[in-house]
Amino acid sequence: MITSTTGPQPADFADVRATNLAVVLRFVREHAPCSRADIAASTGLNKATVSSLVADLIDRRLVRETGLTENRVGRPATMLVLDGSPYAAIGVEINVDTVSAVATDLAGERLLTWRRSFSGGESVNQGVAGVGAIIRRVVSRMAKEERQVLGLAVAVPGLVDVQGTVRIAPNLGWHDADLGGDLAKALRDPGFPIQVDNDANLAALAEQRFGAHAGASDLVYLTGEIGAGVILDGRLRRGGRGYSGEIGHVQLDPEGPACHCGRRGCLEAMAGIGAVLRRDLSPAEIQVEIEEVVRLARAADPATLATLESVGRSLGQGVSILANLLNPEVVILGGYYVPLAPWLLPAVHGELGHRVIAAEAGGCQVVASTLGHDAAALGGAARVLDSVDSGRLPGGLSRIP
Ligand SMILES: [Zn+2]
Repeated sequence: MITSTTGPQPADFADVRATNLAVVLRFVREHAPCSRADIAASTGLNKATVSSLVADLIDRRLVRETGLTENRVGRPATMLVLDGSPYAAIGVEINVDTVSAVATDLAGERLLTWRRSFSGGESVNQGVAGVGAIIRRVVSRMAKEERQVLGLAVAVPGLVDVQGTVRIAPNLGWHDADLGGDLAKALRDPGFPIQVDNDANLAALAEQRFGAHAGASDLVYLTGEIGAGVILDGRLRRGGRGYSGEIGHVQLDPEGPACHCGRRGCLEAMAGIGAVLRRDLSPAEIQVEIEEVVRLARAADPATLATLESVGRSLGQGVSILANLLNPEVVILGGYYVPLAPWLLPAVHGELGHRVIAAEAGGCQVVASTLGHDAAALGGAARVLDSVDSGRLPGGLSRIP
């Protein structure tokens, strides 16, 4: 949106100004170091408005002057970069037996990466107490660094509605849990927003901001369990109630193996990590078993290679559904799939080749994530940064004329 300090003031001037502050902040994020004149030229905002907006962002310590100058015709310009040194964004991922926490600064630089053991499976209350204790330690570390927490987003493996209520998280045994509200109480109303989302959704946001395909506007992230985080036209798509992306329960074969959901032949039953290992294990056991599968695959063990090829074909069927339906630029395999990707991807690509109606699978690439096991936690931090970029800025609007 464009406003002028000399033109008529709209009734919702504060909203316009907040929107323009976000426009300038995003420009600096993408183009730093840049000058006020660069911002004016690219955004269409007039120079006086840009000066006022930049002054506000400097007051809020979101942007700073570097002192660097660029020689141009006329006088040299002072260059601007993101500051954000007094801020932190926190992302947390809850798993059955671990909690991961990531904090970044405003520019997305990691300040902290923790993984702690956790037993949240007993009850929501116990889970909230355990997660709350870890978050309190992260917040207190940030306070020691004199950083204000911009927000917290928590990733949960399960169905999370658009209000952030955990409807069902089967592996944790949680249902209908107001996790955000409970955490706010456990943290004694910490003064920053708490968001709760599905793990695949947040991992997709992490890929969009930090991954090898950062900036892709049509991207799907698949967890090994199998859930999908779907980004279309640059935005996370949660669906009407927040339950999109449950491709793991698309049925591939009515006669197929039993699925946890009570149906048969779901994608998850045929291509999830349980299908690779052929039995149910705890997450710690899964990690060990996957290392063994990788060792056997490297040694060209025929049974292992056959299993991976079969799982890869089923996975390819699932990815083909995504490619036909959504035409993503890239489908990113995350979590447990990452170490197995060298053996899964050839079969996935084979299936895409003859199941997707568009030539060259509609340009859909399938790749392994490069973000590691804390992608969803990192995505929590990304979600907080997204909120800032879309206008939820810290501090008051101190310079409204
Ligand atoms: Zn199922």
